[in-house]
Amino acid sequence: MPARTGRRVDHNGHSLIEIEVRCGECGAPTGLVDGATIHPRRADLAHLRFYACGCGAYVGVHAGTLQPLGTPAGPATRAARTAVHRVFDPLWRDRADASRAVARRDAYRWLADRLGIRFEDCHIGMMDRPMAERARAACMRGQAARSMRRIDATPANVIG
Ligand SMILES: [Zn+2]
Repeated sequence: MPARTGRRVDHNGHSLIEIEVRCGECGAPTGLVDGATIHPRRADLAHLRFYACGCGAYVGVHAGTLQPLGTPAGPATRAARTAVHRVFDPLWRDRADASRAVARRDAYRWLADRLGIRFEDCHIGMMDRPMAERARAACMRGQAARSMRRIDATPANVIG
């Protein structure tokens, strides 16, 4: 409730006020809309907020904030990002020796290294389609290496 507290960010550094978000597909500025605009038939999603672009791209926000989850994306990019999550998330979710936050961070470090990009820039929600497709391939190789116990191919902390 930024109006009451005056706070502009939460304890995670996520913005509580609307920020400028550019479309990941066309570069145009986006604006805040509610769930009914994005998902007209989903009354259960009506309370959610999205940054949406005139080209049809959109992105959701971190719960309880107005911080976008990534860059607004169209259907093909969203599908490519979802496909990465399906193979990336199992790489860190099962770790018993670390908190979820640490396990996830380690896995992102590993992925950034595989993609040759900076850790700071490695977020699935910000990937365009070609990068997402590279990330999915890297994670599938990581999964295969893990199932064969070739622990040299993925860092031990990702394997758990
Ligand atoms: Zn756009």
